[in-house]
Amino acid sequence: MRTITLIIIHCSAVRPGQQSSAQDIDRWHKARGWKGIGYHYVVRRDGTVESGRPLEQVGSHCRYHNRHSIGVCYEGGLNEAGQFADTRTPEQKRAMRLLITALCKRFPRALVVGHHDLNHMKACPCFDAVKEYDQQRP
Ligand SMILES: [Zn+2]
Repeated sequence: MRTITLIIIHCSAVRPGQQSSAQDIDRWHKARGWKGIGYHYVVRRDGTVESGRPLEQVGSHCRYHNRHSIGVCYEGGLNEAGQFADTRTPEQKRAMRLLITALCKRFPRALVVGHHDLNHMKACPCFDAVKEYDQQRP
């Protein structure tokens, strides 16, 4: 397994009602010329956690930070008007907390951050992931 120092949280930047399954994202990322989905996990609006790229493989989700990180993406991130917004459902919040807790147990030295924390040009994931996940570990 790779050395993991960061768990990076993303949104898929889709509007309410627009689907972004791991399969959809895989197709979009292939269209960009990547080898497939860049995230390791996708958390759907109903709380289903879908696997993306295998954890052992370096992802493609945050420039300069892929080698030692895991990318977790929630479905959503845009409001009806197409503006960035924290659109996580209660089911997503619950599933993300469980997933991130499990990852923190497996990689206890990894920090949990949002994409925005590493690239201030990005609004993603539209909430403070450090405050919500890194500072509130079990
Ligand atoms: Zn992102």
